[in-house]
Amino acid sequence: MLSEKVVNNLKKASFIRTMFEEGEKLRQKYGPENVFDFSLGNPDPEPPVDVKKALLRLIEEDRPGLHGYMPNAGYADVRQKVAEALSVEHGVKLGYENVIMTAGAGGALNVVFKSILNPGEEVIVLSPYFVEYLFYIDNHGGKSVIVPVNRDTFEPDPELIESRITPATKALLINSPNNPTGVVYSEKVLMELADVIKKKEKEYGTTIFVVSDEPYRKLVYDGVKVPSILKIFENSIVVDSYSKSLSLPGERIGYIAVSPSARDAALLADALIFSNRTLGFVNAPSLFQRVIGETAYLSVDPAIYKERRDLLYNKLTELGFSCIKPSGAFYLFPRSPLEDDVEFVRAAMKYNLILVPGSGFGCPGYFRIAYCKDVKVIENSFAAFEALAREFIG
Ligand code: PLP
Repeated sequence: MLSEKVVNNLKKASFIRTMFEEGEKLRQKYGPENVFDFSLGNPDPEPPVDVKKALLRLIEEDRPGLHGYMPNAGYADVRQKVAEALSVEHGVKLGYENVIMTAGAGGALNVVFKSILNPGEEVIVLSPYFVEYLFYIDNHGGKSVIVPVNRDTFEPDPELIESRITPATKALLINSPNNPTGVVYSEKVLMELADVIKKKEKEYGTTIFVVSDEPYRKLVYDGVKVPSILKIFENSIVVDSYSKSLSLPGERIGYIAVSPSARDAALLADALIFSNRTLGFVNAPSLFQRVIGETAYLSVDPAIYKERRDLLYNKLTELGFSCIKPSGAFYLFPRSPLEDDVEFVRAAMKYNLILVPGSGFGCPGYFRIAYCKDVKVIENSFAAFEALAREFIG
């Protein structure tokens, strides 16, 4: 009766949602204050106060047409503001014509894949990955080619990626700061990747886009800088949203930025605008485009997340968990003390701890903690982590 593909995909639906629903059951049984739910990447800090001020002002202003349609790429003046903010961040001059406003990063990725993929073309996805990537690529007839990152650093492995590039490779999808590891890719590794891509483009006479999904770009700690993809890769497309940086995930606002040096950049932008329209998004939400026009430079204070990272990372490593120290986003990705990460995560539920198995990100043997939770929840969870460590680490 329904699409077989969708029904099949439903069965494999995200571990994250499953764990969140398990958490719901525990909350009803034990009370929300006694359940430590680290499953969802739903930011808990409120948006910066200037976002709220801009929103109130816009509503009170009663500007004619505020809630109307506009060009499918978004308001030209908002695109210009975003382009200016990006030019400062990336050190690459962008104009409004390089920016398309979208319904979040998820919407943006669908627009990109619809615009660049022919049936059967391949997108290299690095594991562990944000699980929705596979569905987004499949939505547009593409094929995901999964390549693991280096397990010591959780950075891409240029040699391994090179070996998986074929004449059908249309894009390499990267995500830094990364969900689920929190790792920020170094300039050195990215430069090596750029060489690999140039070499393969030449060898096969193809264009390989680097699609960089960057919703956590502004959430970095310890003075780490996220290298500019637009500077490093010629055929690059940046996908970003304000879901995490401004704590606005429910408002569905983001953008795509096309590198001015991309091959046929103007045609690519036209294709993206057309896809934004014909996928039925029509345009990014009008009111929040206007808000972004005034707040594109802002971010939630990353120090909020750094404090939580320090608390959890220090506690977990003290308890004997092995974990790379992340320098961005709001995730920890420790090794599972049990080989079977799903079994381990199930066992953690005994202590009212809700974690997500690495298998959900195509990386068995690990688990993810989303620490976008109040410091009090984190501190109150320590006894549960201690009990878990006593049972599985000794
Ligand atoms: N990409 C990554 C890596 C994410 O973690 C998320 C959300 O968690 C998204 C994209 C989707 O973000 P948005 O809310 O902007 O669609």
